[in-house]
Amino acid sequence: SPVIVWLRRDLRLADQPALAEAARKGPVIPLYVHDDAAPGAHRPGGASRWWLHHSLASLDADLRARGSRLILRRGRSEEVIERLCSETGAREVHALHHYEPWWRQAEDALARRVTLCLHHGNYLAPPGSVTTGAGAPYKIYTPFWRALRERMPPPPPEPIPERLPAPSEWPGSEKLEDWALLPSAPDWSGGLRETWKPGENGGAARLEAFAEHAAAYERARNCPGVEGTSMLSPHLHFGEVSPAQVWHAVADAGGSVGTFLGEIGWRDYAQGVILQSPDYATKPARDPFGRFPWRRNKADLRAWQRGLTGYPIVDAGMRQLWHSGWMHNRVRMIAASFLVKHLLIDWREGERWFWDTLVDADYGNNAVNWQWIAGSGVDSNMFVRVMAPLTQSSKFDAAAYIREWVPELADLPDGEIHDPSPLVRPANYPEKRIEHRQARERALAAWQQAKST
Ligand code: FAD
Repeated sequence: SPVIVWLRRDLRLADQPALAEAARKGPVIPLYVHDDAAPGAHRPGGASRWWLHHSLASLDADLRARGSRLILRRGRSEEVIERLCSETGAREVHALHHYEPWWRQAEDALARRVTLCLHHGNYLAPPGSVTTGAGAPYKIYTPFWRALRERMPPPPPEPIPERLPAPSEWPGSEKLEDWALLPSAPDWSGGLRETWKPGENGGAARLEAFAEHAAAYERARNCPGVEGTSMLSPHLHFGEVSPAQVWHAVADAGGSVGTFLGEIGWRDYAQGVILQSPDYATKPARDPFGRFPWRRNKADLRAWQRGLTGYPIVDAGMRQLWHSGWMHNRVRMIAASFLVKHLLIDWREGERWFWDTLVDADYGNNAVNWQWIAGSGVDSNMFVRVMAPLTQSSKFDAAAYIREWVPELADLPDGEIHDPSPLVRPANYPEKRIEHRQARERALAAWQQAKST
């Protein structure tokens, strides 16, 4: 009798322990369940849905080339899978562990109905397994990484199986087009199409290209105008490439590749945090953030979302995000800090906007980074350290980046582009929503108020 492989954010054939184990046991039925009810408010956002559509299409094509296919069904995961088991006579369901709270609940519910075998494979080490000497989870990244690093390298990745054993009769599948994951009118996905190739082949191509300059990562990664980072984040999020594949492809590159491997470790760290605190995306971990006097200013929020704050580096980042579904990490930090400290808007508004617009929107990574920027997270970053966006912009040489994403400013010289004076600011570029010094004072006053209430 067949074995079902329940795929979620692990849309690949290589180094896929659930698929490999199922294939050793009998005919395999690869299944993707479109379950929007389980994540609730964290159902995939617009950019993620676009990616998911193309990733599923690519996976189906890769499966078909190996004598298999992807079965698509909609509904509550545990109900759909139980039904498919009785329809096909499947004995077992294999899947990779996922750590979003809704997936853990669905796994528990499913395990009560069918034989569910969960495998590790989306992280360098099983989240929750890297602990202090006393067996407690690490709160801070650096000692966490030191401990995880000791356990590396991860096992070498398994290649794609040449053929997958197929059942004598395939169960029915829904049509991907009927799920309407792609935007219709207006179709805003042109920039995404230009930038990305979702799917396992697209991920492998990115990894191969990055491996060639991985040695120079440390120097290049902070400059948004340079392609110095891997741009693997959506491929890693959707599991089109495994962290072990990434590790083994670059580990011998030399130079500063160690810094890059440490970034891969951040994914593991973030999963550990949401395992401990499942509501991390909505609940600040520290006092006094439960009673912080956030401003509810729709016009400011909208100006930030649209890249019209009057701070060129922030606007460039927000427009890059809107166009391509991705933003450079240094600029994510600047733009996020600007929302929280300069505009004094609740970090959860930012978390939600990123969730909808990033192709790499990831429950753990997004929440951990937003809480870190806000200073409300388990890992401490002080709220009172207010990042200066204009200084950051010139320090990290963002002139070319600004010219690309804020064309109104393209003709300004380097000396003016980071902070255009009223004399040179074009009429179609907005004034600053608030001056840096004033914003800083307002943020510090809000902090004092929150502490004393
Ligand atoms: P590289 O520099 O090439 O790093 C390689 C990989 O390491 C990334 O693909 C990613 O998987 C991981 N990584 C790197 N930095 C981090 C980090 N700080 N935290 C967690 N993982 C990291 N990353 C997401 O994947 N999803 C998110 O939703 C997300 N939201 C963010 C929100 C804010 C406010 C900030 C400041 C950062 C956020 N990040 C998020 C982290 C980081 O910005 C992106 O992972 C990175 O920019 C992706 O580009 P890259 O693949 O070229 O990264």
